[in-house]
Amino acid sequence: MSRPLNILFVSSEVEPFAKTGGLADVSSALPKAIKECGHEVRIMMPRYRFISERKFKLHDIIRLKDIPVPVGNQSELANVKSSFISNLKDKVQVYFIDNAKYFGRDGIYQSPVGKKDYQDNDERFIFFCRGVLETLKRLGWQPDIIHCNDWQTALIPAYVKTLYASDPFFKSIKTVFTIHNMAYQGSFPPESFKKSNLPKELFTPEHAEAYGKFNFLKTALAFADAITTVSRKYAEEICTSPDLGAGLDGFLATRRKDLHGILNGIDYQQWNPLTDEHIYRKYDTKSIEAKVDNKKALTQRFGLEYHEHVPLIGAISRLVDQKGFDLVLEAMDDLMKLNVQFVLLGSGDAKVEKKFEAFQKKYADRLGLFFGFDEPLAHLIEAGSDMFLMPSRYEPCGLNQMYSMRYGTVPIVRATGGLDDTVEDYAGNGKGTGFKFEKYDAKELVKAVQRAVKVYQQPDEWKKLMKNGMACDFSWVHSARQYGSLYKELLK
Ligand code: ADP
Repeated sequence: MSRPLNILFVSSEVEPFAKTGGLADVSSALPKAIKECGHEVRIMMPRYRFISERKFKLHDIIRLKDIPVPVGNQSELANVKSSFISNLKDKVQVYFIDNAKYFGRDGIYQSPVGKKDYQDNDERFIFFCRGVLETLKRLGWQPDIIHCNDWQTALIPAYVKTLYASDPFFKSIKTVFTIHNMAYQGSFPPESFKKSNLPKELFTPEHAEAYGKFNFLKTALAFADAITTVSRKYAEEICTSPDLGAGLDGFLATRRKDLHGILNGIDYQQWNPLTDEHIYRKYDTKSIEAKVDNKKALTQRFGLEYHEHVPLIGAISRLVDQKGFDLVLEAMDDLMKLNVQFVLLGSGDAKVEKKFEAFQKKYADRLGLFFGFDEPLAHLIEAGSDMFLMPSRYEPCGLNQMYSMRYGTVPIVRATGGLDDTVEDYAGNGKGTGFKFEKYDAKELVKAVQRAVKVYQQPDEWKKLMKNGMACDFSWVHSARQYGSLYKELLK
């Protein structure tokens, strides 16, 4: 093998310390997988107050105390603590950048009460981005690559190429920036730009400015040596669709040759039907018949009657615009005519919840609802459903369709982003892993479910689809290898 690389992975969320979504899972699983490939990886993230010192055995690092970090005209102090994450084989060191003024709070981006974004999110993450570079220098550990994730880390590539460009420590460092969701850009009033201390002339539409605002994400798109996103299809969509590019599609298209789609993996320890403690009965391809006991348990859990030949469709999701539940509501009457049962675990929008509740009154024997966040129930739904519905408007990668296939639950998805890349449409003769529809349209959704129900009624054919999905390999090692090749390419 060629020389192992030093990789610094920077993220505002890392599981198990801080999480609002998929970013935290990736920021924990990917560094571990990269380390398994033989590279040295370390992580930096903010130290939010709720990250317990005792629970995670956080240590102070004496020589990383009171590091001055410029924010506008001020100098703020960073103190660095350390802990680690590990899998069976490896430990990955995690550094926490601590500053009570910016991160001594109960939320990550917004206050838990009132759910309003913090007013000073610009300053908080300017401090974090510069704090990372100042910390690195004092630490004396020189990465080959700084791998940044989402807008909260997006100023780092610009700093490396401007304010720190003449510093020999940073001279040969390359930066990679990963887009996990193009809809979140870190867009702030133009006055915020001053606080970054980036050169004035960068506040133009070629660099840091978008539609008159200081746009963190765009700044990374302008300066990172390579840009990645979490599926091949999403990489294409965000360059070509004004909707999905969220105003930056044209700009991103100018960097198309530096943009790579690398699919996320899933955690095979946590999501394994053979060892899953949350499900009613464990199984794998060889004992696939046992899956039906999970279906019985699931229908019971939702107060529905169990019917052997009636397909049970599951869905687990944040109930936000992106996820396409307006289509499901529009299609509900037609779906129910297909003689299926449907269980939904959802969290989010109260208005969407009310609409589902109205349908539940109408279809009490066939529609099961649970609103809230419930990890064990999510596992039971994956194990107990026959089909899994993801009609997303857009989906950078998506995890549940991959969990579904691992559990022999056949996904029905809209052909967008990672859903399109991971699910192979049924093509007759036992070929395929799921059912896809193209157009964002309730009728198309119903047609896809109809196709699925038809195949479900041919048990031998259906079993082939289940097994095809279970045989797919969505482990992180593939992604880690692709990132490894990209890093090496940049350092050539
Ligand atoms: P996103 O990150 O956009 O929400 P993903 O499909 O990438 O979508 O990941 C969502 C993750 O959150 C999955 O692991 C899914 O099972 C989980 N999840 C979403 N909503 C709930 C819920 N209400 N209860 C339990 N888990 C949920």
